[in-house]
Amino acid sequence: MTEPNGPALDALNGLSVGDALGAQFFVPETARAHHASRTEPSGPWPWTDDTEMACSVYTAQRERGTIDTFDLTHAFALRHDFDRGYGPAANRLLRLVREGGDARALAAELFDGQGSYGNGAAMRVAPLGAAYARDLDEAVRLAARTAVITHTHPQAVDGAIAVAVAAAYAVRARTEPMAPAAFLGAVVEYTPNGVVREALADAVRLLAEPDARAVARLLGNGSRTSAADTVPYALWCAARNLTDYRAAVWEAIAAGGDMDTVAAITGAVVAAHTGTEGIPATWMATREPLPGWAFPEPGSVPPDPEWAADRLKPMLRPRACPVPDLFWTDGQWQLIRSGLRPREMEDRWVSYTSEGVLHLHRSWTGCEVWSIRVARVRGGWRPVSGLAETHRERPRPDPQWLEPVLGVAVGGYGPR
Ligand SMILES: [Mg+2]
Repeated sequence: MTEPNGPALDALNGLSVGDALGAQFFVPETARAHHASRTEPSGPWPWTDDTEMACSVYTAQRERGTIDTFDLTHAFALRHDFDRGYGPAANRLLRLVREGGDARALAAELFDGQGSYGNGAAMRVAPLGAAYARDLDEAVRLAARTAVITHTHPQAVDGAIAVAVAAAYAVRARTEPMAPAAFLGAVVEYTPNGVVREALADAVRLLAEPDARAVARLLGNGSRTSAADTVPYALWCAARNLTDYRAAVWEAIAAGGDMDTVAAITGAVVAAHTGTEGIPATWMATREPLPGWAFPEPGSVPPDPEWAADRLKPMLRPRACPVPDLFWTDGQWQLIRSGLRPREMEDRWVSYTSEGVLHLHRSWTGCEVWSIRVARVRGGWRPVSGLAETHRERPRPDPQWLEPVLGVAVGGYGPR
């Protein structure tokens, strides 16, 4: 249950403009000339890792209407551009995932097994929260799912939840205005117990404090790049300036620290409220354009074929079975991921992927006959394990059918 696409895209625009403007101030001459005076440096303003990852989150939700963590993990890894300012741990993690490493194990191993408590999960999640403004439980659930792909430490997950909830409430406040304390207090209520929640509660008490730098000294300004020292100040800036994008982002940048990420979070939440029209037009025009891949057709990767949602039947007696030795390029995997549905009476298959498993069903009966787990390998994708139906009252899988379906030349079928 999502809002129409608008609020998520508004949040993504607000995020990317804040990120791109905030990043400018790491150049010392720019900071000297423009920081104290709050004047815009000349453009263009390239966006950084915050925007690259947020585009992947936005796109993943838009493609499927939900979050598939396998898809999103590999989207992060395949779109990872080393020159966008990722932290060293993220650079290493995403490179290893791209080369076929086990993403879950790699994320959990970070920082001596604590997992990352960095602000990377919080910085990219606001468009998702905006998409679920009317379903806060789903916003929280999906925010946590997007976080643990790279950040398994509870503080990082809590930071992502807080930002997603803030974006959701910012959308709601379009029609149900909220005072700053009520807005930030609602975020506190949804944030799990821990240091992020405690700092957000402090932020509520500090809402009337006029000096942003003094507040940042108490809440943090992201200089440790942790969720706990980034999210509370970013949301304090957003809560105070929910109807004024320009003022909010300048306040986010004013405290120094991790300026691109603080301004990305603040800007995303405020734009979820004001809409893209609340972002100064010259700022939008000066921000580097968002990448073309961020705008796929909605529903282009269905979670399952909607025409047969009530007909598809899982296997009754699955047994492990060998899988053929195949290799798929990224383009071939994209076609497989998009799923097959029958167009002619003689077409045999319905297929879809979910969490890295390709499910194959017979089209006439809806019965599943194979499921095949897929893994990333260097340069492409491979089937790594499979289950086949063995129940005597169900269709018997015929291995001769398998390869034509798994290869890309699947006669009579086409991607949806
Ligand atoms: Mg950045």
